[in-house]
Amino acid sequence: MNFLEERILRDGVVKDGDVLRVDSFLNHQMDVALLDELGAYFYERFKEKGITKVLTVEASGIAIACATARVFGVPAVFAKKSKTLNVDGDVYVAEVESFTHKCKNTVIVCKQYLERGDRVLIVDDFLANGCALRGLISIVQCAGAEVSGIGIAIEKGFQMGGRTIRALGYDVCSAAIVEEMSEGGIVFRTE
Ligand code: 5GP
Repeated sequence: MNFLEERILRDGVVKDGDVLRVDSFLNHQMDVALLDELGAYFYERFKEKGITKVLTVEASGIAIACATARVFGVPAVFAKKSKTLNVDGDVYVAEVESFTHKCKNTVIVCKQYLERGDRVLIVDDFLANGCALRGLISIVQCAGAEVSGIGIAIEKGFQMGGRTIRALGYDVCSAAIVEEMSEGGIVFRTE
C-alpha cells in the first residue's frame, strides 16, 4: 500500500452519493508534506515527458498543482471559475459539471498562460466521471498545446472517468485507485 492509500484508509470518510471526504489532509486542511510526496510521485512518473506547465482547475487541485510544479520547476496554472458567461476573446473557455456540487461551471484560462508547444501535465484531486478532465483537455487542445500526462491523486475506479479518458489515449497516473467503498471499508485497485 502506498503513502496515499494508507492515509485514505486512516483519515478518509465515505459519504453517501459515492463521495469520499478527504478534508482533513487534502481538500480543506492540507498536509503539505503529503502534497510534496504527491508531487514527487508524479515527477517520477512523468519526468521524461518534457513538461512545461502543470494545469488544474480551482479550487481543490491548486495545492497539488503547486507541489507538482515545484518539483518539475515549471509554472502551475489553474482554470478559474468564471461567473460571467460572456468572457472575452483573450481566454480559453470550457464548461465543467461539478460532481460534488451538481452544477455547471464555466472555467477559463488566459491565453497568455497556455501556448502552442506547451507540454502540459494536468493534475487534480479526484477523478470521478471525468468532466473536469475533459474540460481541461479541451482547453489544452484549444491552445494548440499537448496533454503530455494526467496525474490524479484519487481515482474512483468504479466510476467511468478513468476508463473513458484512458480509452481516448491519455496517459493517466492515479496515486490511489478506489475500487470499492462503503462505510464498511475502502478497497484499492492493485496493479
Ligand atoms: P469528475 O469531473 O471526474 O466527475 O469529478 C472530479 C471533480 O469532482 C474533482 O475536481 C473533485 O473536486 C470532485 N470530486 C469528485 N468525486 C469526489 C469525491 O468523492 N470526493 C471529493 N472530495 N471530491 C470529489
